[in-house]
Amino acid sequence: MQNISEVDELIKLISKLPGLGPKSAKRIFLKLINNREELIKPIAKTLAEVYKNISRCKICGSLKSNSAGCNNCENNKNKYNKICVVENIADQWSIENSSIYQGYFHILGGTVSSSNNKKKEDLLINSLVERIEKDHIEEVIIATSATVEGQTTAFYIQDALKKTNVKISKLAQGLPVGGEIENLDDGTLISAFKNRQSFIK
Ligand SMILES: [Zn+2]
Repeated sequence: MQNISEVDELIKLISKLPGLGPKSAKRIFLKLINNREELIKPIAKTLAEVYKNISRCKICGSLKSNSAGCNNCENNKNKYNKICVVENIADQWSIENSSIYQGYFHILGGTVSSSNNKKKEDLLINSLVERIEKDHIEEVIIATSATVEGQTTAFYIQDALKKTNVKISKLAQGLPVGGEIENLDDGTLISAFKNRQSFIK
């Protein structure tokens, strides 16, 4: 290594990305530096644009363009009577890819962690209740992971929705214990949706 601070800094940043360690970070850096015009320039430009223009919607938690509004809850041309509640955007993408589900999404942005009370307010539960009423939603499908945190979160949501008349169901069979939605294969996900069970209120 040549002790150039910008180089060290970029390698350090790249190695923070999921699945990448220092070795692959160095390889990626070399690929970038050898392709200044084809890679560095457009990536730097796109990153700056994403940083400026893309954020999480404060109503549904999905990604939205700051200039065009939210395609998930605002500009969605389809009218649905279902909302699927997931922990994160990767879960939304997995379910969309499987084509098993036609409806709105609500992205919590995490789970209820018993050690962190502040987090509960960040999970957009109040706006979920508002969406159910505003969009005349008939069914809420809770698609949180089969982990302790995911299941605790499912019960927390169920409790928060008690005051609504909405039907609440939960992904069931086929969901392996400890299974995270984003890591499930399509077959498992489809079976979990088809066999979803009503939450007993
Ligand atoms: Zn939205």
